[in-house]
Amino acid sequence: MVHLTLRGQPLGTAQPPADPARIAAVLFDKDGTMSQSEPMLLRLARARVEQCLALGVSHGLDDARLQQLLDLLARAYGLGTDGLHPAGTIAVAARDHNLISTATALVQVGLGWPEALALSEQAFASTDSLHGQGAPTPPQPTDGLANLLERLTAAGVRCAVISNDHQPGIQAFLRRHDLAKHFAGLWSADHLPRKPDPEAVHALCAELGVRPQSCALIGDANSDLHMARKAGVAVVLGYQDGWSQPVPLDPAFPQIHHWDELEVVD
Ligand SMILES: [Mg+2]
Repeated sequence: MVHLTLRGQPLGTAQPPADPARIAAVLFDKDGTMSQSEPMLLRLARARVEQCLALGVSHGLDDARLQQLLDLLARAYGLGTDGLHPAGTIAVAARDHNLISTATALVQVGLGWPEALALSEQAFASTDSLHGQGAPTPPQPTDGLANLLERLTAAGVRCAVISNDHQPGIQAFLRRHDLAKHFAGLWSADHLPRKPDPEAVHALCAELGVRPQSCALIGDANSDLHMARKAGVAVVLGYQDGWSQPVPLDPAFPQIHHWDELEVVD
């Protein structure tokens, strides 16, 4: 086992730690942590808004209602002039939750629920190809990730993905960037329970044959960090380098601004 340092400071259960935690495995979130998803998600968010507005026109919405719909969708998705909100619906929530938030915006401009839901489904179906590894702008790894994974693998630390993307999306990302060789396990949206249930962490740890108390978990959402803490993970770290805007993470957790800040110490 190893211990980890962040900007030269040893990491443990408490900050500052009485003793550095001994780490056998590191669990990584994918979107916004291992992968820079923002360019792809921005394109997806803008396309969904455009589709909804076009469908709104064909459903007889007037200019005032269309403007209202644009504002509601932008706020629901976390779509601003300077990028995506890292804790917004498009950034964090699964497709089904985004669909419901879209239908809710359509209800607020006067559509009935069945119509709003059908229209949202239509808008999503016509923009789904912009998401995932087949997208025109597939996500790139965050800066310095491959190097950190090399160092962890060389030190005998097991790495795993814990993500609410589906298994094929996770595997395609790892294969595309030649990272699959570093990973001993994954927990996806196809596994039950999903994140942020602490049982997802326990089940992944059992698969890896490690205790949560011998693990680190790194993510870019407070839901990841609080899940890890509840699961008894020894080192819980927030990741800040996956978005153009600062991520509003709970300051109770140490935060990484670049993978090079993390050192693996034998
Ligand atoms: Mg994430």
